[in-house]
Amino acid sequence: MLITSSRSLPPCAMRPEVYQDEQLLCPPARHESSAEQWRDFQAKRDAAHRRCAGCEVLPECLYQAVVEVDVSGFVACTSERERQRMRRVLGIDGPLHDPTQDAPRSGGGPVDHDLVMATRRAHPDDTSRQLAERLGCSLSTVKRHLRRARETESPTPPSPVPPPTIAQVLDVFDDLEKTA
Ligand code: SF4
Repeated sequence: MLITSSRSLPPCAMRPEVYQDEQLLCPPARHESSAEQWRDFQAKRDAAHRRCAGCEVLPECLYQAVVEVDVSGFVACTSERERQRMRRVLGIDGPLHDPTQDAPRSGGGPVDHDLVMATRRAHPDDTSRQLAERLGCSLSTVKRHLRRARETESPTPPSPVPPPTIAQVLDVFDDLEKTA
């Protein structure tokens, strides 16, 4: 296949290293960072934000990351935690498809379900990735336990609700940006 131009690629494809930075994949806690570390993180976040803000497919990318697929890291001007907040506001449980659902467990012994849930209660704003780091287990393990808890809490499946529209997602995103 001959690739003659990369002009149609989105910024995240043109500069993947910006988005794959460890600090954007797993944002530090403000209170655990020095002033310099925090400035460094914010500069990286702002650089990715600027690129996404100028991206032609931002609305579609945002909708997909909030509603359809559970992706990690900084995507479509949002962190994983911000997308969680947006889902809460939109009243959706989680993305329709979780690509880690069938991923094999990596390393370590079994993680106790109660421990995962206790850690979730103690750190309600943590992303799944941050919980995995606290527990020393994989992201897929944390997600599996959280899913199990949701299923146990809701033995009768809720009636299906229509997914939000792209306009609703963008409205919630605008509110997020105003409070950022
Ligand atoms: S909006 Fe989405 S597709 Fe565009 S640069 Fe950001 S992450 Fe990539």
